[in-house]
Amino acid sequence: MKNPKSKFDFLFKILVIGESSVGKTCLLLRYTEDTFNASHLATIGIDFKLKELMIDDKLIKLQIWDTAGQDRYKSITKTYYKGSQGIVLVYDVTSMDTFEKIQHWIKQIENNASRNVKKVLVGNKCDKEERQVSTEQGQKLADEKGIKFFETSAKTNENVKEMFEYLTNEIFRNYEEKEESINIKKAKEDEEGHHKCCK
Ligand code: GDP
Ligand code: MG
Repeated sequence: MKNPKSKFDFLFKILVIGESSVGKTCLLLRYTEDTFNASHLATIGIDFKLKELMIDDKLIKLQIWDTAGQDRYKSITKTYYKGSQGIVLVYDVTSMDTFEKIQHWIKQIENNASRNVKKVLVGNKCDKEERQVSTEQGQKLADEKGIKFFETSAKTNENVKEMFEYLTNEIFRNYEEKEESINIKKAKEDEEGHHKCCK
């Protein structure tokens, strides 16, 4: 039964990973704040942003984590992956290098994330003319890895909402059988406890 005092029904942690400057921070800000800024973001990273959405009659709260510059060192700590239910794996369609590095990031996921974490592969900056990675190449890699593929633009807002909502749905549909449900419950209780003590 739903707890009437609860502000939300589920809290999911989602990570956005990939090479530096592929547009991770921009995707996050586009989805959570519907903004895009072409200039100021290159060097900054944010910790995480919150976003709420409804699935069926459930209020889902997403905690979406940026990599805050750690992407430059290519070794994000295990702590970062811990307790995450979803991962957005981003490359830049105008950079073959960032696409090739996806293999590295997939290894990172295998080594650090929970085995049943839900993933999406994202080719960002699809608004740009000067492509190095075709839609077919992206789709082929996603098929090989058995994960869903999206091409997005944080600039024009193409497919951004669709991508995050697909991932959230995947997490939601599967959470019940998974051990993560325990973590989600715990995180939720922690947050509720936190609200209580702040009143
Ligand atoms: P991050 O290092 O992966 O977080 O990348 P940022 O989000 O900081 O973006 C790097 C650069 O790419 C910035 O100058 C953005 O304005 C630009 N950028 C990000 N997403 C898009 C996009 O979808 N289209 C275009 N044209 N530029 C983008
Ligand atoms: Mg960034």
